[in-house]
Amino acid sequence: MPELGLNRVDLATPAGVHCFVSTRQGGFSEGSFAAFNLALHVGDDAATVRRNRKLLLASLQQQCVEPALKLQWMQQVHGTRVWRCNGNTLEPPPEADALYTAAPNIVLGVLTADCLPVLLCSEDGKEIAVAHAGWRGLCNGVLEATLENFNSSPAQVRCWLGPAIGPCHFEVGNDVRDAFLASAPGHQQTATAAAFMTGHKPGKWQADLYALARLRLLTAGVQQISGQVQCTVCDADRYYSYRQQAVTGRFATLIVRAT
Ligand SMILES: [Zn+2]
Repeated sequence: MPELGLNRVDLATPAGVHCFVSTRQGGFSEGSFAAFNLALHVGDDAATVRRNRKLLLASLQQQCVEPALKLQWMQQVHGTRVWRCNGNTLEPPPEADALYTAAPNIVLGVLTADCLPVLLCSEDGKEIAVAHAGWRGLCNGVLEATLENFNSSPAQVRCWLGPAIGPCHFEVGNDVRDAFLASAPGHQQTATAAAFMTGHKPGKWQADLYALARLRLLTAGVQQISGQVQCTVCDADRYYSYRQQAVTGRFATLIVRAT
């Protein structure tokens, strides 16, 4: 079996905070889900996904040198609800599109295949969060809702934008552009419009989720934003992509505060 696809995120996190992104490599899933699918809701064999999750947890425990780590997932619904984890994990996972915790040893995970995964961490390393930012959640304010859960001010929160569909492949209609323009304040109309480039087809736009997320975070007061475009469609051998293949798995973007 190839080496497990689990990469550390190059993020200037405080001591004790660890960030990771998984890839398709190294798990047990087969066919369209090959090989390291971590999602139970996509049609893959549940026992196989649980084996993959076990592999993931073991690798995280080893890399963080912390055998007490536990995983917390969420049932993502493209909404804006944030689940606050108090130290006990919930199974089945809560219906939410962001997870926040100030508790140690809880690995917060978001599962995606084109939507934008966002990691958040306070400068003092005591508060962490993940968010699932597809265009709907992003437009409706999932990142702002996540920031509201922090005791730290947004200026003291670092954010990282993970692998997601890039402007090269994210074709949207007028409805998406109109929704973002309607939700943007007056002084950001121009910048918001600039995140939608004229599409290859009439009436279509190429949307830049990363630029839209940065705008929302900057407006909320976040100053430290990292993570460049890593297009999941361009890099479909490495990451799962729903646009590239409708029946597919999900990779995880993860953050933990290890003791
Ligand atoms: Zn692309």
